Amino acid sequence: MNSLKPSKLALSGLSLPDLIKVLEPTQLPLYKLKQIHAWIYAKFGTSFSQMSDLSLAERQLLDNNYVLSVLNTKDCQISKDGTKKYLFSLNNDDKYIESVLMTFQKREDLSVCVSSQVGCAVGCKFCATSFVNFKRNLTSQEIVDQVMSIQRDNQVRIGNIVYMGQGEPLLNTEEVIKSIYVFANSVGIGKRHITVSTSGIIPGINRLAKENLPITLALSLHACDDDLRNSIMPGVKTYSIKNTFQALTEYLQTTNRRVTIEYVLLAGVNDSSEQAHKLAKLVSKINCHINLIPYNPINELSESISYKRPSIEVQEAFKAIVETSGRKVTSRLERGKDISAACGQLHNKHLNQRVPS
Ligand code: SF4
Repeated sequence: MNSLKPSKLALSGLSLPDLIKVLEPTQLPLYKLKQIHAWIYAKFGTSFSQMSDLSLAERQLLDNNYVLSVLNTKDCQISKDGTKKYLFSLNNDDKYIESVLMTFQKREDLSVCVSSQVGCAVGCKFCATSFVNFKRNLTSQEIVDQVMSIQRDNQVRIGNIVYMGQGEPLLNTEEVIKSIYVFANSVGIGKRHITVSTSGIIPGINRLAKENLPITLALSLHACDDDLRNSIMPGVKTYSIKNTFQALTEYLQTTNRRVTIEYVLLAGVNDSSEQAHKLAKLVSKINCHINLIPYNPINELSESISYKRPSIEVQEAFKAIVETSGRKVTSRLERGKDISAACGQLHNKHLNQRVPS
């Protein structure tokens, strides 16, 4: 057998063609490589020693030269409602990312919220990740392996993926698109069960439209006039609401897929009846579903964050006005309220306990 590279490459999270390429030095036949692919993606194998259809020498060869995962689990918090929040470190540079497993009543409803970047440059004022300066984009393998790590840990099949963890997916569009194909082709999650949530990066929306994937695109809007939106989401001020809705309209024309509009309700900031009427007017022009998200306070992280959740009465009044648009409006079920489930919270807790990277 050929000599192998000294550094250990990870296998989980790779597409079959990439796995074949990475394992080329082993000179294992194609059918063996497909068996390794099946151990990773169909059997949720946790070690090379489990791969019983490989010889002992082949398993030893893998163990000596490769690792299974590109991530290490650093923490896992479990909520009373079953939500699990994972903190992973990345093999390549020991940076931290988060992923959340959301459990619902039916097993097939299991969803994972994945990160697409380390930190985020958009800087939304209500988001814990805005305290983590942007460090780098994740590779497709690092995105997919978040789900594989969770499947291995729980020995369950995940049915849905949402790109709603740390980072702006459409500032890492090519790796995000690549990861969607791996989810569909290797992990076995249909594209219709994948949601990409963006703060409104127009070139990324256009790029996704060109790829014409049957996924769900969600726009995090959070305000209905540019000044207010720019004040709470400074990283998207290049893109006006008007131009963003134009890009969504073109996206809809190409993909024929209904989009989701996400709106975090912040007491006294964006929850007025005036904002609700503006939202109703905006959404009446496109085929969409509106998801209202009562704010999840993160004040424990910074006293400078003073946002609060609106009262139930205000939430309901806002929803009633938006419903006059004729569009479907839901309030998102909150998950993991008793743990650090808001994006960036667990990461920040750990950053406070170690030398910053
Ligand atoms: S809400 Fe999303 S886009 Fe905004 S700072 Fe947080 S991770 Fe970035």
